[in-house]
Amino acid sequence: MSLKLPTFRGGIHPPDNKAMTAHKRIEAFRPAGDLVYPMSQHIGAPCAPIVKKGDKVLAGQKIADAEAFVSAPVLSSVSGTVKEIGMRMTISGSMDQCVVVENDGEYSYDATLPPHDDFKSVDPKECLRIIREAGIVGMGGAAFPTHVKLSPPPGKKIRWIIVNGAECEPFLNCDNRLMLEQPEAIVGGLEICMHLFPDAKGIIAIENNKPDAVACIQERLAERDGSMKVIPHEVKYPQGAEKMLIYTVTGQEIPPGALPADVGCLVINVRTLFHIWTAIVDGVPVVDRVISVVGDAIATPKNILAPLGTSVRELIDAAEGFTEEPAKILSGGPMMGISMRSIDVPVMKGTSGILALSARSARHLEESNCIRCGRCVTACPMGLLPSSLDRVVRLREYGEFEALGGMNCIECGSCTYVCPAQRHLTQTCRDGKAGVMAARKKAPKAEGKGEKK
Ligand code: SF4
Ligand code: SF4
Repeated sequence: MSLKLPTFRGGIHPPDNKAMTAHKRIEAFRPAGDLVYPMSQHIGAPCAPIVKKGDKVLAGQKIADAEAFVSAPVLSSVSGTVKEIGMRMTISGSMDQCVVVENDGEYSYDATLPPHDDFKSVDPKECLRIIREAGIVGMGGAAFPTHVKLSPPPGKKIRWIIVNGAECEPFLNCDNRLMLEQPEAIVGGLEICMHLFPDAKGIIAIENNKPDAVACIQERLAERDGSMKVIPHEVKYPQGAEKMLIYTVTGQEIPPGALPADVGCLVINVRTLFHIWTAIVDGVPVVDRVISVVGDAIATPKNILAPLGTSVRELIDAAEGFTEEPAKILSGGPMMGISMRSIDVPVMKGTSGILALSARSARHLEESNCIRCGRCVTACPMGLLPSSLDRVVRLREYGEFEALGGMNCIECGSCTYVCPAQRHLTQTCRDGKAGVMAARKKAPKAEGKGEKK
């Protein structure tokens, strides 16, 4: 009898397409071109440059920062000279202020962050300071500053630290390979988090299509005291979403508008843990990340360790280029990835994959009328009614969208994936959320005007 693995309601089972890079070791890459660092690589206040044109910089040196608590500094990933500070296109297609560094190829290192042989001797407040100074953000894609995540509001007791090793997005293997190649740093990063929250249990959640990673982490935990354990999860998308992980590990649902800390949880990605370890123990900040360069239009799919700021074009060249003109190039995976307008843009802290699909693989979504089949409702992991949300957004009835719980949409793409009418359900949910936010911004002004009368 097979043991039932933890899971959640709804969700979908797209082909995982992991085989292209699942067994490929991470390859370090050194770019030849300029490195470009956008000032908004995280959720929160954008940074401002603290260097100017002509300045010499070292790898690991802070080049931009912000005073706001919810922000994270940007560090140079190479040594060289600041060539320009100006507006450039980013991977999302928007324009942002960027620091451009001409690489001298030396990789001379800035040693501002001190190493620590014994992290247990480092005061928790000092750990949080180092995590901030190292520029660490959620490396699973959300890019929420990690020092903020590790500073829950007073009175919130953290009982579970849930490590997200699910990597449920098809095609991507950057977290899988990191668990296989750096398990000690990941487990060490979790131990540092448990040093910050000594009453918490450490749970490492890994989808069951990564048996080697499960075994590798379990082997490391066997040498520890039992306060951490691996829980293999059913392979189902979007298992790696924060709310899904909290539900499958603890059985708790997060009420609308509440935070994981409100139910005693912190969810943290495996690469984020890796950086917490290297920042505190080795004194090495976030200057690079693993990116799966993959898809049927890529000649030699690879998992590449790239300095942040590297051009996507150079990464694709490192994977031997395209086999044919891709019909679609995405930053991230096929479910939540962002369609790219150009490959002459830099990789950022949250870039987990570059996916290039041929015309045979890319879906061309010609919409037709809803046939009321209900598949989107069955697939929605948040228990929403995507077809109804779609209808009210198209009518611009944002109040109704909110009343139907549309703000709880996690934009996972499951409804769009299953819809036989190819309705752009996830996009209309995004539009609905933007419409509600715009209406909320206008509301106080309207009330203010009313009071004056
Ligand atoms: S994108 Fe939103 S509405 Fe669609 S399935 Fe995901 S959570 Fe539900
Ligand atoms: S899956 Fe598509 S066709 Fe079916 S109910 Fe939902 S929106 Fe309508």
